[in-house]
Amino acid sequence: MAKIKNAHAVQGRHIYARASYLYQAASYLSSQACEVQQSQSAPSDRGLEMDGCGKRALQNLSRQALVDMRAVCLKSQIRQTPVIKKTVCKFCDTLLVEGQTCVSVVENRSAGGRKPWADVMVIQCRTCGRAKRYPVSAQRQKRLPLREKQPRPAQDVKQDVVEEREVDMAEPISPT
Ligand SMILES: [Zn+2]
Repeated sequence: MAKIKNAHAVQGRHIYARASYLYQAASYLSSQACEVQQSQSAPSDRGLEMDGCGKRALQNLSRQALVDMRAVCLKSQIRQTPVIKKTVCKFCDTLLVEGQTCVSVVENRSAGGRKPWADVMVIQCRTCGRAKRYPVSAQRQKRLPLREKQPRPAQDVKQDVVEEREVDMAEPISPT
């Protein structure tokens, strides 16, 4: 007998699970690296065993997990959610944690900062120093297949018809 497939089942579920696992591993390793940093600032026994090398190793492992996650997503053509994408530096694959691995500032480059809709969130990575920029108030545009086709105004359509007629009339006169 043929197996009846569940209509609600996600296709390629194991790929999503793998990507999710890698992201969680990366965030865990990154948090451990931050803990090491804190324990170094407050002198304790643990700070002696986990030195700067340990912290760097943890951050490198976290970065490697994110590199793997990106590779999995690219290979299987699954889309990372914008929320996850915002938390990964696309230049050096560091997990961006506010106040620890990145600094975010709201910038407004309009004349005198008078236009509130020109606010841009700038997230600067502390590892590579490069920044990602996101408009704050603008709504995110839908993906192309999800966009609704807007009907053109009637006046524009009329003008197009007139132009086409003119082209038709001009055709027999042209030497070609
Ligand atoms: Zn970076």
